[in-house]
Amino acid sequence: MIGGAGQVSVDIDSVVVGAGVVGLAVARALALSGREVIVVEAGEGIGVGISSRNSEVIHAGIYYPGGSLKAQLCVEGKQRLYAYCDERGVDYQRLGKLIVATDDAQRAALQGLLEQGRRNGVDDLQWLEADQARELEPALSCVAALWSPSTGIVDSHGLMLALQGDAEACGASLVFHTPLLSARCIEQGFELHMSGAEPMSLTCRELINCAGLSAPQVASRIEGLPAQHIPQAHLCKGSYFSLSGRAPFRHLVYPAPESAGLGVHMTLDLGGQARFGPDVEWVDAIDYVVDPHRAEGFYEAIRRYWPGLPEGSLQPAYSGIRPKITDPTEPAADFRLSGPKEHGVPGLVNLFGIESPGLTSCLALAERVTDSLAA
Ligand SMILES: Cc1cc2nc3c(=O)[nH]c(=O)nc-3n(C[C@H](O)[C@H](O)[C@H](O)COP(=O)(O)OP(=O)(O)OC[C@H]3O[C@@H](n4cnc5c(N)ncnc54)[C@H](O)[C@@H]3O)c2cc1C
Repeated sequence: MIGGAGQVSVDIDSVVVGAGVVGLAVARALALSGREVIVVEAGEGIGVGISSRNSEVIHAGIYYPGGSLKAQLCVEGKQRLYAYCDERGVDYQRLGKLIVATDDAQRAALQGLLEQGRRNGVDDLQWLEADQARELEPALSCVAALWSPSTGIVDSHGLMLALQGDAEACGASLVFHTPLLSARCIEQGFELHMSGAEPMSLTCRELINCAGLSAPQVASRIEGLPAQHIPQAHLCKGSYFSLSGRAPFRHLVYPAPESAGLGVHMTLDLGGQARFGPDVEWVDAIDYVVDPHRAEGFYEAIRRYWPGLPEGSLQPAYSGIRPKITDPTEPAADFRLSGPKEHGVPGLVNLFGIESPGLTSCLALAERVTDSLAA
């Protein structure tokens, strides 16, 4: 019935907007609970947004303020994600990560992270002095490091395929090239209008906005949702450079974090190829081109912890954009999961500001969405 020519009208339990890792995890959770679910996606397939443009790191949960959703859902999400990957055969490696202090002034920052991580429930962190860190990674230059054994990397596309497969096995449908244009609160739910190759309208009981960078814009198209519940979107680009040649480290290596990101770190993909990034660049529009001139800043940042980085070895790779809901002058915001309790519209959940660690947290976030709909 969906996708037929002309206007189609459908009544369904739940519509999820966006087929990124979060929308797919939400669709899976809703479908597993017995709901009829449709995912409407503007792009040509799953994971065409932020979910394909990130570091693919399973974060431990160290950095985030105690009690924040980021802290809770990262720690919980990490455990659930490892178990899910085992269960569904999604590729991952629990490589472990070093966060490094490159001068004595950064020791205090590292100590702060150790305490913060422990408060968040990350109970396997270890403090290493420089010689202990160099036993793990001989090419590393640092005065001290934190060792996080539970950090890993995951095949994010494989993860999304598994989530999609579970959702579809429970009866969910995905429709592509189908951007949500407008929505209106009606007595028993929502009336939705989608554009695209085959425009359609449908009614649903529940509407979950997982539109990533466009989530505030999508929310602003929901007639009946008061404007004070919609944050201003801010875009913060992060570029990556890949390293030609062999990776210098076997574990992930992160510097002490900076204001809008975690610092230019070295991650490995599942094939063992090293990449560095993402840096921090506040932008006005979505543009994924990597400016080769940004390499200069990368050489400088990386050589603080890897002085052996050869000149000319970094190549522009790709970029991602963080869906910020605060501007550069404000402190980083928590994930904002805005459900009926917050805005008063039954059946509606908006997910705003789902930046890192959103990939790690996707299964835990999905459970919070179903809880929020039940409340
Ligand atoms: C540079 C960078 C590095 C990161 N690194 C990590 C990491 O290492 N570990 C980690 O845990 N997290 C990381 N994250 C965060 C993680 O990638 C995101 O939290 C996660 O991918 C967000 O998924 P999403 O489904 O919310 O958004 P998206 O993947 O962007 O999905 C949203 C979807 O909505 C669709 N859409 C938009 N508008 C409409 C509309 N009107 N109608 C229909 N569909 C629409 C889009 O096409 C898109 O497919 C990183 C993020 C960035 C930017």
